[in-house]
Amino acid sequence: MADGCACDRHAHMYLTVSDALARGLSVADPIKETEAVSLIDAIGRVLAQDCTSKVDMPAFDNSAMDGYAIRTADLGNGPMFTLPVAGRIAAGDDGTHSAPVGTALRIFTGAPVPSDFDAVLMQEDCEVTADGIRFTRRPKPGQHIRRSGEDLKAGAPILRQGCEITAREAAVLASAGYGEVTLYRKLKVTIFSTGSELRQPGEELGPGQVYNSNRYMLRALLGKPWIDLTDVGPVEDEPALLEQVLREACESADLIITTGGVSVGDEDHMPRLFAEIGGQTDVMKVAMKPGKPIMFGRRGDALYVGLPGNPVSAYVTWQIIGSHMMARRAGLHHTPQTPENAVLAEPLERRAGRQEYRPVVIEGVMPDGTPRLRLMAPSYSGRVALLAQADGLAVIPAETETLAMGQVLPFLRF
Ligand code: AMP
Ligand code: MG
Repeated sequence: MADGCACDRHAHMYLTVSDALARGLSVADPIKETEAVSLIDAIGRVLAQDCTSKVDMPAFDNSAMDGYAIRTADLGNGPMFTLPVAGRIAAGDDGTHSAPVGTALRIFTGAPVPSDFDAVLMQEDCEVTADGIRFTRRPKPGQHIRRSGEDLKAGAPILRQGCEITAREAAVLASAGYGEVTLYRKLKVTIFSTGSELRQPGEELGPGQVYNSNRYMLRALLGKPWIDLTDVGPVEDEPALLEQVLREACESADLIITTGGVSVGDEDHMPRLFAEIGGQTDVMKVAMKPGKPIMFGRRGDALYVGLPGNPVSAYVTWQIIGSHMMARRAGLHHTPQTPENAVLAEPLERRAGRQEYRPVVIEGVMPDGTPRLRLMAPSYSGRVALLAQADGLAVIPAETETLAMGQVLPFLRF
């Protein structure tokens, strides 16, 4: 497969990237099964329920500062105020403290403010004297008190189903009182790399052989708590063998991802084999560079995504199309990364026809902070070293033939 082939004159017959993505998403229906999981084990997983808070957040009026709780009604005209200190409340105390009129209570952050106290003074604003605390600025009623329910009232929505429980979601679920949540079950993903030329890193390379990089790239991309991964490893371009591995994967996986063998060469067996085992296939020629051929298939409950073998093509087609199909299949409500604006540091000439995702390095920034991009080599579909040096992908629209230096274009940062 040659990504820089002379086929661009046929590009009008290809699907646009957004049509290809829409088609891919339309076959990637979300898994339905859910399971109840303790919150500590739910981290990184996909939430399958809408959640409302089980408690007022915070649950009681409490101090936002280390200092002194007072009643503003006790204060005279000033300019100097002095109040004896009648007790002490720390975080974890029950807040049922009482104190005579005209006194303050020593209080610490997070401690409950007794109901008849209406302001907290920062300790930095108080002088401690033999007669009690002395301060000059009259506090406002409510000052430095975090009121019960001011963050959120019990019953108010906190999260929608379909979100990934990252740090922020985990924190709010815990605060809202969830010891257990309903999740989509893990997505069962099976991967293998096709190619008789593939060797494992660490082995000796024979003539005509290459190290299998796609396997490791996919492992890195798929290392997620919501994925239950089966890695078959490399499989030779032997139709009988490939068919057997495909068939077994279809029995157990929600999603099968392979690399290589989806193009039009004699050793590109995957579309035919998948059809032969009863799969519905959709080999899409996408007006996209790199990575023109990408294959989807469906057999029973198994969704199949066949990525090109060239490592950069595999990476880009995964990021632009495959990863979004997988996210949808896993139950995630997620939106593809929005490109940022960047400025081209050099002019560009190219053949129109395919939307291009060109590896770029950030050479510097404009005075307003916009990154300035240097383009990497025009022919890069197999150049994995170049991918590792890149800072992201510049998106060059299909119809574009020339871009001037200083032109603004969309940039997907890695
Ligand atoms: P294919 O799509 O199978 O025709 O492969 C296209 C190119 O990508 C060939 O040069 C392959 O050797 C290379 N290739 C395929 N799979 C891998 C892999 N897993 N790791 C590195 N290179 C690969
Ligand atoms: Mg191959």
